[in-house]
Amino acid sequence: MNVFSRPLRSSNGILKHCAQSRSFYWPSRFARQPSSSSQKWSHPPSSTTVADDEVSTLASQPLHTLSLEDLVKHGRPPLSTEALYASANFTLSLLPIRLAHRVESLRNLPFIVVSNPNISKIYNNYLHSLSTLLPYKSKSISNLEDEIRFTSVLADLVETHSQTIPTLARGFLECRKYINSTEVTRFLDEHLRARIGTRLIAEQHIALHVSSQPHQDTKPASKRSNNGTSYIGVIDTALQPASVINSCGNFVSEICELNYGVRPTWIIDGEPDTTLAYVPVHLEYIITELLKNAFRATVESGRSHEPIVITIAAEPENSRRGSSAAHPDGLGRTFGTNGNPIEPFEDSAPGVTIRIRDRGGGISPEVLPNIWSYSFTTFSEEDELPGSGNMDALNAISGAGGEGSSIAGLGYGLPLSRAYAEYFGGGIAVQSLYGWGCDVYLRLKGLGRPR
Ligand code: ADP
Ligand code: MG
Repeated sequence: MNVFSRPLRSSNGILKHCAQSRSFYWPSRFARQPSSSSQKWSHPPSSTTVADDEVSTLASQPLHTLSLEDLVKHGRPPLSTEALYASANFTLSLLPIRLAHRVESLRNLPFIVVSNPNISKIYNNYLHSLSTLLPYKSKSISNLEDEIRFTSVLADLVETHSQTIPTLARGFLECRKYINSTEVTRFLDEHLRARIGTRLIAEQHIALHVSSQPHQDTKPASKRSNNGTSYIGVIDTALQPASVINSCGNFVSEICELNYGVRPTWIIDGEPDTTLAYVPVHLEYIITELLKNAFRATVESGRSHEPIVITIAAEPENSRRGSSAAHPDGLGRTFGTNGNPIEPFEDSAPGVTIRIRDRGGGISPEVLPNIWSYSFTTFSEEDELPGSGNMDALNAISGAGGEGSSIAGLGYGLPLSRAYAEYFGGGIAVQSLYGWGCDVYLRLKGLGRPR
């Protein structure tokens, strides 16, 4: 048992005292501990530590509200070398502040929670990433050599943080005696929403770097438009939700076959030809999670012969998206209230709503209030720690684009999908018809065309 656990756990007074006294609450030897992953960084900085006051100074700077224009302004074809350097410097101006905010937020957790090996691993990853980027911050990137090294550091950074979600999930499961689920949900919601933006910034520059290389357009021919590709970095300006639904549907039905021995089917109706500008990995994550829920309910209620009906509705061309973020969705929820909504390219770009309708029996009134909490699930009655059935689920939630073979189990599907949808000003609403089935409305705020 950790030496700090007994006094911290047994007395709220001590816990409070610790929170007020940073030096005791957060021993500096812990803050300076080097990351365990340091050996695998190909371009290590001169130092792997960051002074506490440097973290505080960076974390006191406000977070830049990311706009879509931010993401694409350096990436419009043809991509010049100057635009690539500008993208690198812009990325560098944002990431250290964002990482420092995460370090501070982890430091504000009770010490006993951050002492958990999984959570301290994430803390050290953030601190290490920050220390890796800081040497670049003092100089402007203005030659190809620096840009290549910087992009390589970014790629390592993205890789280092790829297991953040399952690791945090495991850590919070292990710490659930010491922190209540409301606090965990609050922390995770903020952390995971911020992480969406941080990854987007890093991945956008990496994608622009790759697209600037000759003969690097690896997109399928169907994805190429007149100027070579429908992509600007990680954004597909002509993403067809119907094709994402079909590929995710195939993937989820395979998981279903593995788990239950049956493959429910799905039908797409409405306007399947609709396209919009969106980040494909975000949509893939959301659709996969919503289909897993619909397929599971359908099979477990014994109605696997009933197809899941997915209706795609494009908003009329003249609907103004700019103001819709502040409007209720008709089901009592307001879209885009959290996260970092991204401003549209064009005020009039229409959104797309996708309704996933299953005949899986719906959600009981006792379960319904909990479905948006991180780690709430009805999958495992025993709510066992990882090591049993939840292991697959942990591996399945490594982030957008991650793959796994579990149908359910950790209770991250709905809240994390909603965080992704809201990031761009959309949302998710669940309407349960208990005894019959569920309608899940996914609204994507079309990102429009680049101005
Ligand atoms: P998980 O799938 O890992 O349990 P989710 O966040 O995806 O976590 O869902 C939380 C809970 O919401 C599920 O365990 C299930 O009880 C309920 N739920 C979600 N979608 C549906 C659905 N379409 N039909 C019935 N219950 C659902
Ligand atoms: Mg789920």
